[in-house]
Amino acid sequence: MSSKLRLRGKVGIVTGGANGIGAETVKLFVENGASVVIADIDDEVGLNFATSIGSDKVTYHHCDVRDEKQVEKLVTFTLEKYGNLDILFSNAGVAGNLSTILDFDLNKFDNTMAVNARGVAATIKHVARVMVARKTRGSIICTASVAGSYAGSTGLDYTVSKHGLIGLVRAACFDLGAYGIRVNCISPYAVATGLTCGMLNMDADEVEAIGRANANLQGITLKTNHIAEVVLFLASDESAYVSGLNLVVDGGFSVVQRCLL
Ligand code: NAD
Repeated sequence: MSSKLRLRGKVGIVTGGANGIGAETVKLFVENGASVVIADIDDEVGLNFATSIGSDKVTYHHCDVRDEKQVEKLVTFTLEKYGNLDILFSNAGVAGNLSTILDFDLNKFDNTMAVNARGVAATIKHVARVMVARKTRGSIICTASVAGSYAGSTGLDYTVSKHGLIGLVRAACFDLGAYGIRVNCISPYAVATGLTCGMLNMDADEVEAIGRANANLQGITLKTNHIAEVVLFLASDESAYVSGLNLVVDGGFSVVQRCLL
């Protein structure tokens, strides 16, 4: 538990907030004094989760980020519910398909891009328009991945979507800097959530064992709360001069090449 309310009085949207990294971040945002709208398509889980927090500072709202009209309504809903909009954690994402350049399916590729890249762009667009109109010096954080900087075994469309997302964050940083709006992303390494367990067809213990076997930082298992703490930093005024950053949360995985020596 954080020792002070780092988001006191702020209002945020968390897409993909019903599960995994998003849900962990919702809890931390609320603990730190924010009001949060959880935007997701997993309605039953999202509603139950919002209710379980037991605070009128958390509300669930159905929003499929592939549909720009639903994104627009989400932003309107948030303003009507909480009266302001300071933070966007654009985190909704899908695993995509474990395909390669030799066998990928165009329709499945399009769907992964529609959630992981285009959906994020649409969400930033409508949130940022409100921030600009209201002169809010907001903070926008997106969930990329180490797969956004390197190729690997996560499948072609996921790799492409997350590379595109990092480019989107840099472009939005450029466009929104004049309004005092910060745009950053995080790139986590593998953490056990529904997404990774489903993609790898493994349970959480197995996913965590793979993470530990490949990680550089020993003696610690990456959990969703480690990632949520980094998002909290980027959402808070403690990172007031940080924009355009891809903050990697991988225990050093991506800068170390293992060899036989
Ligand atoms: P998760 O499956 O637990 O959560 C993803 C959430 O996004 C779910 O609640 C899902 O319902 C929601 N979602 C999916 N499609 C949506 C849509 N069209 N509109 C709105 N919501 C939608 O998985 P997670 O691991 O917590 O994933 C969160 C983000 O983290 C994703 O962007 C993912 O790519 C990224 N990420 C995850 C890992 C990992 O190892 N788990 C690593 C790096 C990056």
